[in-house]
Amino acid sequence: MSDKTQRHNERMKRMKAVVDKKIAQSTEERGVVVLLTGNGKGKSSSAFGMVARALGHGQKVGVIQFIKGRMSTGEQMFFDGLDNVDYHVMGDGFTWETQNREQDIASAEQAWKLAETMLKDEQYDLLIFDEMTYLFKYDYLSLDKVMTAIKNRPYEQSVVITGRAAKPELKELADTVSVIADEKHAFRQGVKARMGIEY
Ligand code: ATP
Ligand code: MG
Repeated sequence: MSDKTQRHNERMKRMKAVVDKKIAQSTEERGVVVLLTGNGKGKSSSAFGMVARALGHGQKVGVIQFIKGRMSTGEQMFFDGLDNVDYHVMGDGFTWETQNREQDIASAEQAWKLAETMLKDEQYDLLIFDEMTYLFKYDYLSLDKVMTAIKNRPYEQSVVITGRAAKPELKELADTVSVIADEKHAFRQGVKARMGIEY
């Protein structure tokens, strides 16, 4: 065995001991809150990756998209209508053009009512609240109210929240927080949003 190989093997052995110890220490079994934020691409697509995982295990999933996009997305076409998924695209009132705060708040409240019902229903193993952070950014919804409902959710239920500019309180509440950085985006090189990549 070469020196390099031997050193590598020893390093791997030490690393394995550290990882094994951490695994042995993580024994709690409960649902988690995952927050995916930041300006880079990959928040919603990561959330839908978890939907696929959960469904693969036969779990039940609730999806609420708080901001309605311009077009129907691949994820909506794929997941909506599957037996174990309740998929809701809300926020008909939100567009950058509405300039109607009252209407936006009413839409936010309507979407929240549905989310609140799901957060009380232990049949759901996983809830996706896609683009929810914007509702707090614009004060369309009370963060306190939402955080209380999340804290009181069924023990085994997990919640994934996506969206840019997440409030510090929400980061504090979440068990897992990923802030996706925007280093490059094809958009800035003049590439149009791609089917299957962006939507
Ligand atoms: P995705 O749905 O692809 O995972 P995302 O949820 O992280 O993206 P959003 O902030 O929800 O990103 O933006 C939605 C759309 O904007 C997506 O089509 C995404 O590719 C695009 N987008 C994300 N980040 C950037 C960026 N930095 N510049 C331009 N467009 C972006
Ligand atoms: Mg998104």
